[in-house]
Amino acid sequence: MDCSGVRALMNRYIDGELGYLETAEFQRHLAFCPDCSLEFRELSALRGTLAAWGDVPLAPPAGFANRVMTAVATEPLPGSPRPLADVVSDVLEWLDQSLGRVRLPGGRTMPVKNLLGWAIALVAVVIGFGRRRGQDQAKTRVSRAAGAARR
Ligand SMILES: [Zn+2]
Repeated sequence: MDCSGVRALMNRYIDGELGYLETAEFQRHLAFCPDCSLEFRELSALRGTLAAWGDVPLAPPAGFANRVMTAVATEPLPGSPRPLADVVSDVLEWLDQSLGRVRLPGGRTMPVKNLLGWAIALVAVVIGFGRRRGQDQAKTRVSRAAGAARR
């Protein structure tokens, strides 16, 4: 049995799964091969450490079950409509990905969707002021007409 054959059998030897002849050849090789003997000692130590871990009781952190059940309760049921916030978030993410970013002075960048948002807000404000100005002018015209009628 050569070194690669011995190393392929190490785990099975530790587990006691080798037959009588394989065990004898394995042990004979370890007796004269310092490399395989060292590897066998290291593997045995590792397996012992791993086996000892099996005796350590593992306890979840405090409140773990409550956090899991809370997360499950807020999760939408399969097939239920998605929350609007998720849809909006996905659309904004998609816009970020597809529109890209604009370089600003100073090496910084800004998403194009943010610029579009500011432009839409500015147009809305301008339209709002325009309508208010139109209402004020109409009131002025009405009061002037009323004053002229009184004279
Ligand atoms: Zn060897």
